[in-house]
Amino acid sequence: MNLAYDVLIIGGGPGGAVSALLLARAGFRVCVFEKSRHPRFHIGESILPRNLPLIQELGLEPELRRLPHLPKYGAEFGLGSDPQTMSFKFSDGLLPGSATFNIERAPFDEMLLNAARAAGAEVLEDTAIKRIDRLEEGAVEIAAEGRTFTGRVLIDASGHGTVVGRHVGSRRAFDDPHLQKVAYFQHFDRVERPAGDATGDPTIIMCREGWFWLIGLSETKTSVGFVTRPSFVRELNISADRLLQWAIARCPVVRHRMRNAVGQSTNQVLSDFSYTCKPFAGPGYFLVGDAGCFLDPIFSTGVTLAMMGAQQAAKHVTALLQNRETPKNARRSYCRFVEGSTGIFWGLIRNYYRHSFRELFMNGRGPLQVHNAVISTLAGNVFPKPVWALRWRLWFYHLCVRVQRYIPLVPRRAECSLLRESPVEIALAHTAVAV
Ligand SMILES: Cc1cc2nc3c(=O)[nH]c(=O)nc-3n(C[C@H](O)[C@H](O)[C@H](O)COP(=O)(O)OP(=O)(O)OC[C@H]3O[C@@H](n4cnc5c(N)ncnc54)[C@H](O)[C@@H]3O)c2cc1C
Repeated sequence: MNLAYDVLIIGGGPGGAVSALLLARAGFRVCVFEKSRHPRFHIGESILPRNLPLIQELGLEPELRRLPHLPKYGAEFGLGSDPQTMSFKFSDGLLPGSATFNIERAPFDEMLLNAARAAGAEVLEDTAIKRIDRLEEGAVEIAAEGRTFTGRVLIDASGHGTVVGRHVGSRRAFDDPHLQKVAYFQHFDRVERPAGDATGDPTIIMCREGWFWLIGLSETKTSVGFVTRPSFVRELNISADRLLQWAIARCPVVRHRMRNAVGQSTNQVLSDFSYTCKPFAGPGYFLVGDAGCFLDPIFSTGVTLAMMGAQQAAKHVTALLQNRETPKNARRSYCRFVEGSTGIFWGLIRNYYRHSFRELFMNGRGPLQVHNAVISTLAGNVFPKPVWALRWRLWFYHLCVRVQRYIPLVPRRAECSLLRESPVEIALAHTAVAV
């Protein structure tokens, strides 16, 4: 069967759904191909403040409010063996910051995809794209489940599937081994969280080997994860589905927060998730969200970058299909948007794995409102690119991180190493987990 559309979209996550919603509203014939069936589990449950105005702009706030979610006003950061943590509120940012939310991705992603459907996009679930047969300016053809589909533009929003990146051979892992990552995660009940209004503020606990997240999803449920280097895990000889337990048992602060936790003793695993597929647009295609690049989830940027990127891609595809923009200009503007908005996070993430960064960050304040600028960046005020007031302060912050390595600008803090800490067994639910 050969079906003709204006826009073919691979992937029905936030990037694909928002692209489809906007293009269908603009009157195009859009088809989304999703290999799974919503609602489906997805990791990535903490959303940046900048996402809320976008959801409002899309007219989806009432739908969002109807879903179970937890308000998030800031975040808490700590070191693995030091109970004294540092908290901030987005309202302390240099630029106006608002509250946002944590949410389980299954209902959230389903809500977005249903909105696209309601706007007129065709959505084919349980339909994995297996092949790209044609990828040219104005003519694309893809194959799924024995059928081919043709269109004028292809949006790849396949997340880690990186369908186009693999097809054109542009998918590259980062050569810096510190940026290669693997994550172990699970949902638990009865995890201790910040008190009162701060209960939805994610807690990030750092150690030499990586970092933990504790993200409240509802009054009772908390998402807990550990992110580390694959090279570190290879040395351990621990079964991948027990790695989270292993790490929790060796991190005093996380272990304490989880002393009454109830949940499974095994965890889920996501590996090999740091890569880029530049350029983010080429003849016949645009890469949206994780299909373009993924660095590290430390600052909870993924969903917001995917949805903001989707909005831009939809804008340029609309202009392209209405002959208001040349393909070359559409691609150049889109790539500039993605690079401009993500670049500042790449700088922060590279530095985040330096202990001197963590010492400065944990200090909680610095001269020239530098910390306020970092908070505004972490709130997602980076589109289409961060304003100068943020950029020079971030540059100054990175300079301080370098100086701190040799001369203490703020007090030194003890680094927690999971390999040095003595493990303490914790019991989850009715299962005592030996570590
Ligand atoms: C450990 C970890 C923690 C994270 N935490 C956060 C967080 O707290 N906050 C945050 O904002 N982000 C977080 N992220 C990132 C976030 O999950 C992603 O950035 C986000 O889901 C990107 O959305 P997307 O639409 O680009 O891709 P996805 O949400 O991955 O959607 C892609 C879709 O494409 C489908 N697909 C794949 N291949 C095919 C194919 N061949 N054919 C058809 N369909 C296909 C998939 O089934 C999927 O539904 C985290 C990521 C990781 C790895």
